[in-house]
Amino acid sequence: MEPAGATPPSCAPAREAEEPPGCPALPAERPRDGQHARNEREQAAERSGGHGPAERAARGGGRRGPEERGERAERAGRRPRVTVDSSKAKTSLEALKISLRQLRWREFPFGRRLPCDIYWHGVSFHDNYIFSGQVNKFPGMTEMVRKVTLSRAVRTMQDLFPVEYNFYPRSWILPEEFPLFVDEVRMMKESDPSWKPTFIVKPDGGCQGDGIYLIKDPSDVRLAGSLQSRPAVVQEYICKPLLVDKLKFDIRLYVLLKSLEPLEIYIAKDGLSRFCTEPYQEPTLKNLHQVFMHLTNYSLNIHSGNFIHSDNVNTGSKRTFSSILCRLSDRGADVKKVWSDIISLVIKTIIALTPELKVYYQSDIPAGKPGPTCFQILGFDILLMKNLKPMLLEVNANPSMRIEHEQELSPGVFENVPSPVDEEVKVAVIRDTLRLVDPQKKKRKDIQSQTSEHVSETKEDLLGAGPGGGVDYDTSKSTEPGLPSLCLKQVFPKYAKQFNYLRLVDRVAALFIRFLGVKGTTKLGPTGFRTFIRNCKLSNSSFSMASVDILYIDITRRWNSVGIDHRESETVKISAQSMTSPS
Ligand code: ADP
Repeated sequence: MEPAGATPPSCAPAREAEEPPGCPALPAERPRDGQHARNEREQAAERSGGHGPAERAARGGGRRGPEERGERAERAGRRPRVTVDSSKAKTSLEALKISLRQLRWREFPFGRRLPCDIYWHGVSFHDNYIFSGQVNKFPGMTEMVRKVTLSRAVRTMQDLFPVEYNFYPRSWILPEEFPLFVDEVRMMKESDPSWKPTFIVKPDGGCQGDGIYLIKDPSDVRLAGSLQSRPAVVQEYICKPLLVDKLKFDIRLYVLLKSLEPLEIYIAKDGLSRFCTEPYQEPTLKNLHQVFMHLTNYSLNIHSGNFIHSDNVNTGSKRTFSSILCRLSDRGADVKKVWSDIISLVIKTIIALTPELKVYYQSDIPAGKPGPTCFQILGFDILLMKNLKPMLLEVNANPSMRIEHEQELSPGVFENVPSPVDEEVKVAVIRDTLRLVDPQKKKRKDIQSQTSEHVSETKEDLLGAGPGGGVDYDTSKSTEPGLPSLCLKQVFPKYAKQFNYLRLVDRVAALFIRFLGVKGTTKLGPTGFRTFIRNCKLSNSSFSMASVDILYIDITRRWNSVGIDHRESETVKISAQSMTSPS
């Protein structure tokens, strides 16, 4: 029997879940409608100060359409076009190019000597040094959403708010929590002998189902060898997922973290549903290893003989999420409730991630120093349970933005062909992300119109007001001519009131960035700490000023004993511990 998660033989890994770091870039020189040649001319023109032959060629006759009109407007002193460096876009290049054409923005596929307004990175923030503009990645995000780090961050919140964070399966971090895992499972089985759980083991930093396997008993964890070098998360397996056409499926939703401070979150109205290719059965020792039944990864299922490519968004092994919602709605399900639960899950997950993200941000882009601002599209993988409760599986920092899929022409021979379902969803997400971060819009204060929209929306109740609420695709509301209304809907600060009480660790992190002087912040001295305690009225008969001084020394000593490399990521942990247990 084939172990679950093992890639079937001769699998050239297809990518949907996440772009692993180091994915080969699409060749930047791939021409599309002459775009490449045009951009080369534009860049040569720029290097020559606008007076060289390339510039003349770029302006030469014969070109018609939006590009030309945009350039004429630019020369005539009207609004310059937004500039985007796509040289590091990697596999999101195709979707980005289409988006830029729709927006009539100016692409620099080989980078630019002058600063660009926006830098589009395929993998991480640290692709190069940028001192201005905006980058589509946050420093530290890749680290924060790794399976182990995400589980830790959510666990912290589960300890504080168990009911609010019950959308994440019970998880243990291996190898360090293996004894705890064994003990807890034993205790739970003792208290409920009818409980017959299944667990899923997922290697840290893995993607596309790589190395994942199911077990029935803690003793089945493969502890030997690899686990020491590669930690993993073991998680309670959700045995009763919602099925459509008797198949298990998961949802890939695109979420835009537009800003960390202040927190701004948008959710795409539509996402993708990725289907298994074998009818689902609850896990038994006999079927535990059947990946096509239990794992919804596109990268695995594409290799099943049952995988159905379809150009129709309502059928096939990859469909739009809206098509699933329509089916559910027809069955009489409360689709609005599903959406509001999903929004809530997304906001709470991001609230769990923000404390450490702020430390990374502060450390990479210290306040007051020249640097870019960041935004990021995240891929949330969500499983709907039979009772329609959404459960978080994982968050991807680099969700695949490919708009083509592999097709097997003959055994072992694959060809990339356009995928209309991917294109419909992903191009809209990239284009509308760009519209939301448009630097000229900010300058023109056109954002005003959006703000007023938010103010009116703030009165709405989360329940029934999801981005897909009523699955509204009305394009008439767009304020930009020729473009549909935004597919990304703001959920934070729109629903902030309902979630602000959860931002406790966030506040602790802010306090400790100040306390410990993470780059660019002034470190709080012992006198400042005394003043702070006094101002917060924290001292009393049992917590004297002498104890305050000891606490100060304790925190700084712990900080100094943490290795330089670990300081930034450890800050929040130390600070949370120190603040909650002053003794
Ligand atoms: P990867 O990053 O390798 O894709 P995931 O965490 O997304 O790892 O898990 C892969 C697949 O395994 C998911 O798409 C889902 O189908 C299944 N899965 C993961 N966790 C669970 C779980 N707790 N319960 C049920 N199925 C799960």
